[in-house]
Amino acid sequence: MGVYPDALENCIQKLATFPGIGAKSATRMALHLLRQPEDVVREMAKAMVEVKTMVRLCSRCFNFAEADLCSICSNSKRDRDVVCVVENVGDLMALESASIFYGVYHVLQGSITPLAGIGPDDLRIKELFSRIRDNNIKEIVLALNPSAEGETTASYLLSRLEPMDVEITMISYGIPMGGDIKYMDMQTLKKAMMTRRKP
Ligand SMILES: [Zn+2]
Repeated sequence: MGVYPDALENCIQKLATFPGIGAKSATRMALHLLRQPEDVVREMAKAMVEVKTMVRLCSRCFNFAEADLCSICSNSKRDRDVVCVVENVGDLMALESASIFYGVYHVLQGSITPLAGIGPDDLRIKELFSRIRDNNIKEIVLALNPSAEGETTASYLLSRLEPMDVEITMISYGIPMGGDIKYMDMQTLKKAMMTRRKP
């Protein structure tokens, strides 16, 4: 039996399932909710439900979207001939915030991680190859993380992309092995994108 009324205890337990939120933080959040006017709490609950019901994956690039295509794929000003391949949406967001890339993206939804049993078929790699085949894509920019998994994914993609009629470049980061695109500063990302080179 918890020290709090059941409803409060239940709320704390639910909040504690968020990543990085322990029992103490969850308790503070629940007590904060309790102090808010009911309409504010309803708005918050609505936002949580809506993120689940409204947000889906773009059918072309697998970025988050509220329609069939995401805001980048449906933007006619973006260069659809150049596709930047990233591991996840966080990496895409980081590159977008650096405002240096005007092409479109392809989000793999992860990286090849043999230890976790994640192989090429578990990622959106097939979809990338059909995009290259079916559309007139001129350049694929590999923007994978400088980690063991990122490198494994990059070399797999390189071996499969080479026979295809597409130019391949890789962003070159002045960043140490083990870095993560989502946490890189804008200047580093700008430089990495501007100095992209053939593998
Ligand atoms: Zn898209």
